[in-house]
Amino acid sequence: MLLHAFLECSVVNGPGRRAVIWFQGCELNCNGCWNPNTHALRGTTLTINSVVGRILNAARAFALEGITFSGGEPIHQISSLVQLLFNLKRSAPALSAGMFSGYTARELDEGRFHTYQALNLYERCVAWTNLRAMLDFAVLGRFNKHQLSSDPLVSSRNQELRLFSDRYTRADFEAQAVEVTIDPDGLTQITGFPTLATLR
Ligand code: SF4
Repeated sequence: MLLHAFLECSVVNGPGRRAVIWFQGCELNCNGCWNPNTHALRGTTLTINSVVGRILNAARAFALEGITFSGGEPIHQISSLVQLLFNLKRSAPALSAGMFSGYTARELDEGRFHTYQALNLYERCVAWTNLRAMLDFAVLGRFNKHQLSSDPLVSSRNQELRLFSDRYTRADFEAQAVEVTIDPDGLTQITGFPTLATLR
C-alpha cells in the first residue's frame, strides 16, 4: 500500500488518542484541497503487515483509542485498507477506526468510486460493505472551500459525519482544533483544521 504519512498519536482526528494514516494518491480534485502533496500516485510501497505492526507499536506506546485513515483518498486503496483493518482487529479488537473520504455515502453504497487495484462493480460493493462493517465513523464528501464548516471533523458543510457502530455518539466528537507535533528528530507535522479551529 502507498502511504503519505503516519502520525503515532493525535487528539484532533476523532475521539481520544488516535494514530493517523494519510494515504498517498487522490483523483478527486476537491475545490481548495489542503493536501495537494497527497494527490500523485508515487512513493514507497509498504506491506500491509508492516503498517499493522507500526499501528500496534503506537497503540502500546500511547495507549491509543483508535486509528483514523485520511488522505489522499483511502478508498482508492480499499482492498488494502480492508485487509489492514481485518488484520489489525484480529490483534487489537478494542481499537476503534475512523476514516475521511472525499466520496459521499451514496457513491460508496453504489460502488461508484475509483480504485487503483482493478475491481468490478460487485467487488467494489463487497469491499465497501466489508470496510463499513469495521469502521466506527467516517467523514464523507468532497471538501469545498466555499462552504466551510465548524462542526466537529467536518471541513465543509456539504460533508457529513456518519456513525457506523454504537461505539460513539456525536457528543464524543470534539470541536475542531489544530495540532502541531514535533518528534525528537525535529520532524514537524501539522494536522487538524487550520481554517476555523484554534491551536491545541
Ligand atoms: S479527497 Fe481529500 S485529498 Fe483528495 S482532493 Fe479532496 S480534500 Fe484533497
